[in-house]
Amino acid sequence: MLFEQLGLSTEILRAISEQGYTEPTPIQTQAIPAILAGKDIMGGAQTGTGKTAGFTLPMLRRLQSHANTSMSPARHSTRALILVPTRELAAQVYESVRIYGKYLTLRSAVIYGGVNMDQQIEEIRAGVEILVATPGRLLDHIEQKTLNLAKVDMLIIDEADRMLDMGFLPDVKRIFQQLPEQRQNLMFSATFSDEIKKLADKLLRQPVLIEV
Ligand code: AMP
Repeated sequence: MLFEQLGLSTEILRAISEQGYTEPTPIQTQAIPAILAGKDIMGGAQTGTGKTAGFTLPMLRRLQSHANTSMSPARHSTRALILVPTRELAAQVYESVRIYGKYLTLRSAVIYGGVNMDQQIEEIRAGVEILVATPGRLLDHIEQKTLNLAKVDMLIIDEADRMLDMGFLPDVKRIFQQLPEQRQNLMFSATFSDEIKKLADKLLRQPVLIEV
C-alpha cells in the first residue's frame, strides 16, 4: 500500500514525503479511507503505531476539501476539535498538525492549562480551523466565551482511556454539549474498559472498529 492510494491531496503527500515516510502503517491504511468516507471510528492503538498521522492526515484532507467549496462556513471558524488528556500530548499532536498541514492554508492552535490564557485568546480570536485542547482549559475558554464551537463537524478524542483515568469524563461531557449534533467522531484508546465502551456507545454512530 502507498500513501498515494489513500485519497490524500498532493499538498499533504508532499508533507508526508518530506518526513521521510515511505508507506502507511497498518492503522493508517485502515483509518484514512474510513475517515475520508465520513465514518465514525473507534481505534484501538498504542502510541508508536502512527495513530496521530492516522487521524491528522484525513482530518486535514477533509478540511481542505470543505475550504474549497462555496458551501464552506465562515472562514477560519473552528471545524475540527482534538481533545487530548495532557499538555504534553497536546503539544505533540499540534506539532503533527503543523507538519502535515504545512502546505495548506488551514489555521490551528493548541490550548492547555498551566500557561497564561491571554496568548491563547489572541490566537483563537483570529480564527482557527483546528483546535487541539485539553478538556479543563477548553472549558475555561468556553466559560469566558472566548471560543465558539458551533461549527465543529469533526471531534477527535485521543487517548480516551487516559482521559477517563485522569477524571476528565464530566468535563468531556460538558464539552460535547457545546458541539453541533451533526458531526464525525473519532475515538482512540489503547485499552477497552467498560467505561470506554460506554463512552463510545454514547458518542459514536455505527463506528468502524480498527484494532492494530
Ligand atoms: P504515533 O503513534 O502517532 O505517536 O507515531 C509514532 C511515530 O511514528 C512518530 O514519530 C511519527 O512521526 C512516526 N510515523 C507516523 N507514521 C509513519 C509512517 N507511515 N512511516 C514512518 N514513520 C511514521
